[in-house]
Amino acid sequence: MVESLVKILLIEDNLAEARLLQELLTGATNTSKEFSFLHVKRLGDALLELNQCKTINTSVSCRFDIVLLDLTLPDSQGLDSLPALIDQAPSLPIVVLTNTNDEELAVEAVRQGAQDYLIKRQINGSMLLRSLRYAIERKQALENLRAVNHTLEMRVEEYTAELIKKQEINEFKSEFVSMLSHDIRNPLNTILLAAGLLQNNQDRLSEEKKLSHFKLIRSAIKNMAQLLDEASFIGKADSGKINCEFVEINLEQFCRYLIEELQLTLAEKHINLIFKASTPCIGLGDENLLRHILSNLLSNAIKYSPEGSDVRFELLKDGNQVIFQIQDSGIGIPEEDLPKIFQPFHRADNVAGIPGTGLGLSIVKKCVDAHGGKILVSSQLEVGTTFTVTLPLLSKQHGSF
Ligand code: ATP
Ligand code: MG
Repeated sequence: MVESLVKILLIEDNLAEARLLQELLTGATNTSKEFSFLHVKRLGDALLELNQCKTINTSVSCRFDIVLLDLTLPDSQGLDSLPALIDQAPSLPIVVLTNTNDEELAVEAVRQGAQDYLIKRQINGSMLLRSLRYAIERKQALENLRAVNHTLEMRVEEYTAELIKKQEINEFKSEFVSMLSHDIRNPLNTILLAAGLLQNNQDRLSEEKKLSHFKLIRSAIKNMAQLLDEASFIGKADSGKINCEFVEINLEQFCRYLIEELQLTLAEKHINLIFKASTPCIGLGDENLLRHILSNLLSNAIKYSPEGSDVRFELLKDGNQVIFQIQDSGIGIPEEDLPKIFQPFHRADNVAGIPGTGLGLSIVKKCVDAHGGKILVSSQLEVGTTFTVTLPLLSKQHGSF
């Protein structure tokens, strides 16, 4: 029920009609204290008042509680006034005033958003009072309903987004599992084949041939073990179980050790690795994550480069950041593959017969993320690729890398 003073914006060009309405209301309530009127003659003036009301306060606590609208105004005829008023003050109830022969128009006004209508010659005080109260209550109920509806819509949107995300994760997981089983089948087949050949041709095979089959078996087992390690690392990362253990590292020394470990691979392809460290760089970092990052990027640079080419590896310090840059002159990455190379199992078509699982860079990305860093790639087909990893460099006082 409406209890406090009801503020009415009366839009009526006929002064006598306006006065009559005010008198009817006062008569019906026996007091003029229950209602206050602001009377304007034109729609334009009403819109100005409502605009003020909007800027003085937000629409919720507007200066008016209700609009009484005459449908024939000097600057607006019939239903034209409605959309402008609703647009200006969407939560304000409107009661239209119409002439005896215009009832159809009034009904249409209610369809288009007015709360009620009154036929001028038939109005009496109690009817006017009832209509105003009813319109305010009805609009309030509508507004409440709209608010509930809006909240519900938001909830549905949130739940839908969550569901889509869960569905994507599920799809990703099942795709991951099927890719993994596919990739494990290759080395398993090799083992099965080589073991079968060894078993069935024991007497006929030369020692050299046997050795080569054993080598195949060992390398297939190594492949499988690596694949499983990488898959379990990604699984851990996805469930947020990567532990960062920060220790103080001399980064230049750390990079040199890694290069040492790669000497055999480098020599095999006659790759000339040029390492440059501009300034001494000591900071806190997780050795395990750093190893994953750098060894994957370096082995890619070597793997996708032609024999005898150069690979440049640079360590830079930039304020409180450390930058690792690895640049090769290899096959390059096609432009359309660049946005996907950090996804597990994604491999570009131009890798041709170069072996790989497509998991290396997704591990690199997860390690860089765990370290609070960024990774960028720029590449040009048959010219080369540069990966740039930027990590925050923190000293012991700060507590992390
Ligand atoms: P592995 O899991 O054994 O590392 P991979 O090298 O194929 O296999 P990623 O290291 O994840 O997998 O690399 C994904 C893809 O990105 C590669 O298959 C290749 O297409 C492309 N790529 C990555 N690094 C380079 C590079 N330096 N030069 C050219 N292509 C590259
Ligand atoms: Mg790789």
